[in-house]
Amino acid sequence: MKQSVSKPKPLPSISLDDVGGIQEEMKEEIMQTLSILKEPDRSLKMGIKPPKGILLYGPPGTGKTLLAQAIAKEIGATFFSTSGSGFNELFVGVGASRVRNLFQNARKHAPAVVFIDEVDALAGRRKQHGGEESEKTLTELLVQLDGGHSNDGILFIAATNRKDMLDEAFLRPGRIDFSFNVPLPDTKGRREIINIHTRNRLLAEDVMTTLGDLAESTSGFSGADLHSLFETASRRAVRNGQEIISKEDLDYALDRTILGTATRALQDQ
Ligand code: ATP
Repeated sequence: MKQSVSKPKPLPSISLDDVGGIQEEMKEEIMQTLSILKEPDRSLKMGIKPPKGILLYGPPGTGKTLLAQAIAKEIGATFFSTSGSGFNELFVGVGASRVRNLFQNARKHAPAVVFIDEVDALAGRRKQHGGEESEKTLTELLVQLDGGHSNDGILFIAATNRKDMLDEAFLRPGRIDFSFNVPLPDTKGRREIINIHTRNRLLAEDVMTTLGDLAESTSGFSGADLHSLFETASRRAVRNGQEIISKEDLDYALDRTILGTATRALQDQ
């Protein structure tokens, strides 16, 4: 038997300042959404219904999970995180009961964010999805999302790399009220992400002066790639008994990361 998929996590320590490369328009929309969520009664008086569900979509490693954690932190919500693939079961009814437990558990800890990563594994188009078990699990998810007042204080956030695969019924307003595209970062975004991931690292002078060039030359890198780049450089520095990341450490890490992204691209083909 698999473990239960829904463990409450204490308030995430990630804030919006830890997420780089969010475009201005999206930042504004997120801030607006957060202000509604923070003061639901005031919003209701003005005729604005607080959103129940948010979809974050975009390529892998662009910070969707990070953003969900930051949203939970901003609204002071307990974070329940799980992956859509954790609901795929051979036995009919098991996935559905996991979905039910997840929401029941979250309601006990409201205000709560229920975050489901890889939601396409759970809420994929019914025709393509196939199977009685998958159908039942998706139906249960829709039932839980339609929970009415029992869902007060619950914000559902789903993430996917495949928005095109999602079932129309799942995307309906009231279930998913906002969809945010989280794309690969542009140069400015990469610079912000580099700043975030070098905040707590000691860098040699000649590394610090090349961070702008690094942002320019890493087109196609995701936030996760940039994180991995500095992790690899730090590990090499430690291995060599240094306390500061040198230019050689960074160049070594860059080669490794480029190799990693190229291999991934080949596997995706
Ligand atoms: P997936 O689609 O594969 O689930 P994701 O979009 O949810 O990926 P995250 O899991 O949030 O990506 O990112 C992995 C790690 O990469 C983060 O913990 C963080 O260290 C780094 N990272 C990714 N995107 C960003 C970003 N926009 N700003 C800062 N760090 C980022």
